[in-house]
Amino acid sequence: MSVPARIDLHTHSTASDGTLGPAELVAAAAEAGLDVVALTDHDTTAGWATAVAALPPGLTLIRGAELSCRWFGAEPAVPLHLLAYLFDPEAPELVAELARVRRAREVRGERIVRLLRADGIPVSWSAILAGAAGGTVGRPHIAQALIRAGLVATTTEAFGPDWLGERYRLPKDDIDVFRAVELVRSAGGVPVFAHPRASRRGRIVPDELIVDLAAAGLAGLEADHEDHSPAEREHVRRLAAELGLLVTGSSDFHGTHKAVRLGAHTTSPEAYERLVGLARGVTPVASG
Ligand code: AMP
Ligand code: ZN
Ligand code: FE
Ligand code: FE
Repeated sequence: MSVPARIDLHTHSTASDGTLGPAELVAAAAEAGLDVVALTDHDTTAGWATAVAALPPGLTLIRGAELSCRWFGAEPAVPLHLLAYLFDPEAPELVAELARVRRAREVRGERIVRLLRADGIPVSWSAILAGAAGGTVGRPHIAQALIRAGLVATTTEAFGPDWLGERYRLPKDDIDVFRAVELVRSAGGVPVFAHPRASRRGRIVPDELIVDLAAAGLAGLEADHEDHSPAEREHVRRLAAELGLLVTGSSDFHGTHKAVRLGAHTTSPEAYERLVGLARGVTPVASG
């Protein structure tokens, strides 16, 4: 078997806030010339089966998720994202926690809509839920409602400070990041900290936390990501080397909700092999 060359370990489908269905996503990944793609929808494994069934020849699928976490070592607590790969999707505690977070997203979404409506902004929660079509609901779905109402032109604008980025931003009830690392490991999965230095998205965590997470079982850091500057990528790479963590790169593709293209950033075959070697939950899937 030849070593996979183009590896994108972070993408979203309509199972969360991407715009391609899981089947369309794997087709687009093959089209983009990828050898490996990971499906990492927010807080759900709902897209896995469809992606597996639709997997085109020559493409390997890594089943994963992006967990909504929070670090409670600062006041207020800092939200962060943990990528989880190849975990057992039936591990009861993890399943329960993901269901709880998805529910918390609905509670938060509805509260954001109430705030908007109180200010006379005509958005409807039922229309937003319909837009999410059963997938994990997130702010990008609310952004679509703002676009439909003609209040903003783009998703990026909807994430600006006057809208979902600050004024109408509310926290949701995320998973404690140490508990998330533990749950992913217990489920045989491989936890990787997503875009850990993405300061343009909001507050970031100190390196000391990453040191503690590495001791608690974190396996890797995402370095090459659209929201990291070149200096931030280098910082992440250095930190990973110091801590013996693997380094990933990925597009964080969201379809038309973001400008980034599949394969815009990639992971080295060496890091990929290491990641797969650590997994004990489910295996990579290659079509027959
Ligand atoms: P939520 O998970 O509901 O808090 O919403 C965050 C999601 O919105 C993440 O998946 C991001 O990829 C996406 N997002 C965050 N900032 C932006 C932005 N400026 N433009 C487009 N999407 C964004
Ligand atoms: Zn997203
Ligand atoms: Fe993320
Ligand atoms: Fe993501």
